[in-house]
This record gives sequence, C-alpha cells and structure tokens, in this order.
Amino acid sequence: MSNTDLILDPPTIRERTGDVLARTPTGLLIDGTWRDSSDGGTFPVENPATGEVIATMASATRRDSQAAMDAAAEAQESWARTSSRSRSEILRRAFDLVQDRADDLALLMTLEMGKPLPEALGEVKYGGEFLRWFSEEAVRDYGRYSEAPEGDLRMLVSRKPVGPCLLITPWNFPLAMATRKIAPAVAAGCTMVLKPARLTPLTSQYFAQIMIDAGLPAGVLNVVSSASASAVSEPILADPRLRKVSFTGSTPVGKHLMKLATDNVLRTSMELGGNGPLIVFEDADIDKAVAGAMAAKMRNMGEACTAANRLLVHESVADEFVAKLAAKMSALTVGDGTDEGTDVGPLIEARARDAVEEFVLDAVRQGATVVVGGSRIDGPGYFFQPTLLTHVPRNARVVREEIFGPVAPVVTFSTEDEAVELANSTEYGLASYVFTENISRGLRIGDRIEFGLLGLNVGVISNAAAPFGGVKQSGIGREGGAEGIAEYTTIQYIGIENPWAGPPPR
Ligand code: NAD
Repeated sequence: MSNTDLILDPPTIRERTGDVLARTPTGLLIDGTWRDSSDGGTFPVENPATGEVIATMASATRRDSQAAMDAAAEAQESWARTSSRSRSEILRRAFDLVQDRADDLALLMTLEMGKPLPEALGEVKYGGEFLRWFSEEAVRDYGRYSEAPEGDLRMLVSRKPVGPCLLITPWNFPLAMATRKIAPAVAAGCTMVLKPARLTPLTSQYFAQIMIDAGLPAGVLNVVSSASASAVSEPILADPRLRKVSFTGSTPVGKHLMKLATDNVLRTSMELGGNGPLIVFEDADIDKAVAGAMAAKMRNMGEACTAANRLLVHESVADEFVAKLAAKMSALTVGDGTDEGTDVGPLIEARARDAVEEFVLDAVRQGATVVVGGSRIDGPGYFFQPTLLTHVPRNARVVREEIFGPVAPVVTFSTEDEAVELANSTEYGLASYVFTENISRGLRIGDRIEFGLLGLNVGVISNAAAPFGGVKQSGIGREGGAEGIAEYTTIQYIGIENPWAGPPPR
C-alpha cells in the first residue's frame, strides 16, 4: 500500500480539543516562566455549552501579583531602551504566529466562551490585526523641535513609554481585548501585568506563549489569572511603580478601579459598557438595515459592548423591518459552537442566561409582544432563544440597560428629533448605528448623537486602524488607530538653551 492509499480522517473536534488544551499553559507567567500559584490554589474553567470543566488554572494570590509587578518594574528600563524596530518585529512575528495557530486559538475561544467556531476565527483575524497594526505604528513615533516664541529657548517634545501597566480584560472577546492592549503597550515600550477574565483565561494564556515564542523578553508580559480579581489587582494598583491601568469590562467595575487609581494618580483607559441604539429611518434601505441589525445584534450571541441594544425604527417602515428581521432571526440555529452550522452559541454562564430571561419577562410584563423566541433552552449549557420583541415600552429594562444576550427590542419613533432624543437618553455612549440613504441626514445624526462610534449603513465597524472607545459612562481613552499607542506614552518636553546665545558666530 502506498502512502497515497492511506486516507486519514481529519482529527475530530474531540481529539483537537484534547490536543490544544494539553498545549495551553495553565500556570502563572511571571518573569518569563510559567509557575504554580504560591499557595497551590486553582480554579476551574467551564465550557458554557456543556457545563463541563475543561481546565484547571493556577489561581494567583496577592503574593503572586506582587511578584508579577516586581518583574514588570524590573524589566521596564531595559525594555524601554530597546529599539522600536525590534519591538515592531516581535509584534510582526506574533502576528504571523497567530495566523499559523489560528485554529487552536479559535477552538480555545469556542470552548471557554461559547461563540461559534466561524465567529471565533473572525475574532482571531480581528485580534491578530492589532499585532500587525501596532507593529507598523511602533516605528512611527514622531516628536517635534521648535523655537519658543520669545526666541530664548529651543523646545524638544518627545514621547516616552508611560511605564508598567496593569491590563484587565473581559470574557466576551478573550483574544481581541488582550491584543488591543498588549500590542500598543509593546509598541510603546511598556511592561505589563495582564489579568484575564476568570471565565476565559485559556486564550490569553495561549496567546502569552505566542508572545514568548515571538521573542518578547522575560518580565515584559506577566499573566496572573485568578479566582479573585481584587486579590490580584489591588496590590498592583497600590504599588507606586505602576503607571497605568487599562480596563475593559463593565461600568461599575470600571468606576471602582478609577477610584482605586486616584491614590497613585494613575493614567487610566476605560473601555466600559454600552447601550447602543440602531436607528432605521424611513429612507433606509430596509434589507441593508436588517442585515446590519443581524450583525450588530446577534454577533457574539449579543454579548458585545458594541451590540445594537435597542432597535429604533421609524413607524412607517416598522412592519416591513420587523417581518424581515423575524424571518432571519427565526432561521438561526442555536447550539454548541463547535458543531457545524451553529449560528448562536450559549451565554457565558447560568447567571447571564437568567439575567437575559429576566429582561424578557420584565418587557412582557410591561406589554411587549414576543415575535420570535422568548425563552431559555433547557441545558446542559446556558442557551437562550434568539428573541425579537415589539411594542416595547421605553422604560422597560431591556431598553434602558445593557442586555448582553440575543434579544432585540424594537421601539418606534416618528421624527428625527425623537430618534436622536431616544438614542441619547442613556448614560452610555459607545457604539451607535444609523441606516438612511440620505448621507446628509447620516452625517447630521453624527453631529447630534453622543456616542464615540457610529456605523453609517453598516452593522460592524471595529477595525484595528480605527480609534475605538466611548463617551459618557462608556469610558475614557481610545484603543486602536494612531490614538491607541498614545495611551501608552507620556510626553516629555526638554527646554534647551538658545544655541545663538553667547558670542556671535564668526
Ligand atoms: P466585568 O466588569 O465583570 O469584568 C471585566 C474584568 O474585570 C474581568 O477580568 C474581571 O475579572 C475583572 N474584575 C471584576 N471585578 C474586579 C475588581 N473588583 N477589581 C479588578 N478587576 C475586576 O465585565 P465582563 O462581564 O467580563 O464583561 C462584560 C462587560 O464588558 C460589558 O459591560 C461590556 O459592555 C464591557 N465591554 C466593553 C468593551 C469596550 O471596549 N468598551 C469591550 C468588551 C466588553
């Protein structure tokens, strides 16, 4: 029998799962080595589609987080002295390794977070782009040299790395939320302690190993997963050697961290919650609006800070929009994200599924109509049906709060002023979406709407080259774009004596 006669079945998901989990570090990354927790403590990681424990992680203690901070502080000076070209090349190698290992990363994300594999691969692409983008930005750091208006000084203005950073990431985009912080910090020359979300540490652990494989020196990136977020973050935030905290997560936790950050007057970047409106005007292309709403609402099971939380639809087109959206939503397949054909995976945990159910029950109690779905799906796993609600009162919780689930409430309006007022009537200001074929109207809404991001006739706008971030209680600072690296630098001004002072030249 020749080799060509030997036909092997592709490895099954079960075999690939065992293999990738066996290759994913479960320890703490401190000063370039993976190690156990100082008290031997661990915590489990669950697959939300099955409820099974898939990994046991070392759980960092206060002592471990201090050791991580020590390593970051120790590495800072020599790391800041490396050339921007060498930092750029580490990021570029990391980008290539992410491409090579895309299947592993996607599978890990699906296993620990639940999103369907094709969406997980989409996140690998998106998350990887931050490595490529900041490898390019790393060497584009321009300063300025000028003369003071009085002529008695020369002025040299340059950017320096801000210093050691604490990075805290959420569970909903386990790779992209980490690369969006790590890549610009590496590009700028900062050292880091990363605290991934307790529910999804595996992707970050695997990615940290990629950074080591790409040549990142010991101590530059330290990773401390833990069952206790405060045990890890509080000693670091109190350490006078820390210079910055960058957080992505919920608004209440962000506010708490901002308070802790005041003691040492830390630089802060806060990417917080959202309550995004998606406005469909009477002059919209309705098919385009439905496609945009599907993307903005259903991506990541609705567990996205950029989700279109509320669908605000002009009363004259509401029937057509709802009928077309209902057809699309009821055609979605809910299931385990590793199964082929799954469109909608589980929610992250039982508590999240229960909270989504409570939003729907509250809306129905207040008079909303369930057009599609409306219920939880029996376990194992934490599934909820894609749900479309109409006649939703404006004070229902589903309209006022971040849903973080596959539930789309439709609210109608009759004038542009009313749409703007409805859209802005929230303490949040992250993502918003507008569908209109009138470009002047679209840009006018851009002027009037209080959101950091606006999608005009599109449902997905995130891009590594764009400045991502919110206003109001959705946060402070921007990630991605040219702005993203500035968050990790500080400005130094050097005043220089006038070279023309003293004896005149001969
Ligand atoms: P979360 O606030 O519960 O947790 C986020 C991270 O903070 C996790 O790592 C968690 O362990 C940690 N944390 C929790 N309490 C802490 C404490 N006391 N001290 C230090 N760290 C603490 O948020 P989540 O449920 O993981 O993520 C969902 C939220 O994140 C949503 O509100 C969503 O809108 C937001 N989010 C925002 C963006 C953005 O870019 N603006 C992106 C993704 C998610």
